[in-house]
Amino acid sequence: MTKLDYHRADSVEDAVRERGASASHMYLAGGQTLLNLIKTHAVSAEMLIDISRLGLNKISRKGDVLSIGAGATHTQISQDPAVLEHLPALARLAACIGDNAVRNRGTLGGAVANNDPSGDYPAALLALGARIETTAGTTDSHRFFGQGPTGDLILAVHIPLPERAAFARIQHQASRSCLVGVFVAEREGKRRFVASGCFADGAKEIDIQTPIDDLSAVLDDSFGSAKYRAHLVHVLAKRALLELES
Ligand SMILES: Cc1cc2nc3c(=O)[nH]c(=O)nc-3n(C[C@H](O)[C@H](O)[C@H](O)COP(=O)(O)OP(=O)(O)OC[C@H]3O[C@@H](n4cnc5c(N)ncnc54)[C@H](O)[C@@H]3O)c2cc1C
Repeated sequence: MTKLDYHRADSVEDAVRERGASASHMYLAGGQTLLNLIKTHAVSAEMLIDISRLGLNKISRKGDVLSIGAGATHTQISQDPAVLEHLPALARLAACIGDNAVRNRGTLGGAVANNDPSGDYPAALLALGARIETTAGTTDSHRFFGQGPTGDLILAVHIPLPERAAFARIQHQASRSCLVGVFVAEREGKRRFVASGCFADGAKEIDIQTPIDDLSAVLDDSFGSAKYRAHLVHVLAKRALLELES
């Protein structure tokens, strides 16, 4: 059996110090993804640094920016009064994730760090032009997701509130995880549509007028062929647009 150490961090500084530069020292938030990966030997960790007691779960709105702490759970985001009032599409997205256990334990920071191509949040954050705050500074979400994992501790996500936003998805019937989803945000009359569960290298902006002809970059697995996913993206983009305009 592999030895696995556990450290409960009592401050951000403590967490960062314990992680050091070692990729096998890993932050543990809700454990919904990481513990499965360890159990199935998909990742090997020597130390888990528990970051769940750092108070990183605050949600607040200042002016036209909504800030969500990395430790906020999906349930918290789905029920928070500021999110419900100012960005109901994101509250609905959070309420769609997985099952009760995943929503109650899983965090925004864990979902952002994972950057799963089928994850719901990366598409929303890209469409919304969010900024990601880590211990290394604050970065535009395009840059953050484009650069790949850095190992920095994610502290919060800052979202400039759009004029309107909407979200449509089709979920996997067993896990309730996203099969394909589209998030659209409108600001100053411009609409940005971003798809999840479509492209193998992650969430990407799409042009809803242009069908996806090149299927080589589209996810293709037993849950949905590339052709089916490319078709669904446009169906869901139209549904999201109808919701946006309703
Ligand atoms: C059954 C099931 C269904 C799911 N369905 C959906 C779905 O419908 N939509 C969707 O988007 N997602 C879905 N997920 C994924 C879910 O969103 C993630 O499992 C969860 O959000 C990960 O958060 P966590 O706090 O549990 O992270 P953990 O599992 O604790 O950590 C995951 C990774 O992120 C790193 N990490 C965690 N927090 C931070 C931080 N603050 N800074 C830096 N690195 C960090 C960890 O080191 C680890 O590498 C599903 C998962 C399961 C198991």
